[in-house]
Amino acid sequence: MILDGKKIAAEIRGELRKQIEALRAEGKRAPKLAIVIVGNNPASETYVNNKLKACAEVGIEAVKIAYTADITEQTLLAEVHKLNDDPSIDGFIVQLPLPGHIRETTILSAIDYRKDVDGLTPANVGRTVQGLPSIVSATPRGIRELLARYNIQTEGKHVVVIGRSNIVGKPIAMLLMQRPYLSLPNMSAASLGDATVTICHSKTRDLAAICRTADIIIVAAGSPGLLTADMVKEGATIIDVGINRVDGKLVGDVDFENVSRVAAHITPVPGGVGPMTIVSLLQNTLQAYNEHSR
Ligand code: NDP
Repeated sequence: MILDGKKIAAEIRGELRKQIEALRAEGKRAPKLAIVIVGNNPASETYVNNKLKACAEVGIEAVKIAYTADITEQTLLAEVHKLNDDPSIDGFIVQLPLPGHIRETTILSAIDYRKDVDGLTPANVGRTVQGLPSIVSATPRGIRELLARYNIQTEGKHVVVIGRSNIVGKPIAMLLMQRPYLSLPNMSAASLGDATVTICHSKTRDLAAICRTADIIIVAAGSPGLLTADMVKEGATIIDVGINRVDGKLVGDVDFENVSRVAAHITPVPGGVGPMTIVSLLQNTLQAYNEHSR
């Protein structure tokens, strides 16, 4: 079965639209997101435009704040502090990657965690690890939501995560191994967490053997065709996070054609995790609005 992220994301956008309409009907202002973009990386431009479009669709007010690539770290930090202090902004993100002369960790660490709707600040990550109320980063949140909406339980399951980045691999591993006390606002009730998680990376020995023991495999490596059918147990669930451009076509990290014959559930690329990531940003913005801004 295909795990249809595009369809689920559209459903969630419909739910968010209704929730925001209800707030407006009570006379409250719309939630407001700011997106800071530096330079003119075409992929970043596309992501930001998709995010702005998604905001408009659900009634979140969104502003784009664009800087040229030669901006200093100090000026960008000043913008972050300004947004932290602006009561009309519920949440904001700084689109990554940043130009090489700007330290991403310095910028991310300066964001007020209550407005950190990308869930990437050390404060939010730490809170997530400790099971405290937090804003979970968008891609892990989207994966968790997709599993929940298809009623794929994780309790006691062996989950193999390929990739150990701060934005995908580490946080999804953390979420799925948690005791399920970490419930997210606007999230389906399915019990997620309580999994036994193995995290793999480029130095992992015998990745194929480890994957063959997995009930759920989450691949976030950025390596097309990495996960092949011989690495997958019959009936496993496959979440393909990878986005790669091969011969002008978007593909994931999974050999979709062959793996889909063995797996019980699989996400396509495009149309799987990608749309879920964008809708998670909208959910995080509404969460920040509800928790801190009304
Ligand atoms: P990173 O490059 O930060 O991390 C990749 C990870 O995969 C690293 O930990 C790396 O290991 C590991 N890895 C790479 N090749 C192999 C291999 N052959 N075997 C085992 N492990 C390997 O990437 P991100 O986490 O930022 O992104 C991963 C992919 O997901 C990319 O294609 C990206 O475009 C996509 N993405 C998609 C999103 C979506 O919304 N769909 C959102 C975010 C990312 P090591 O640490 O040892 O180098």
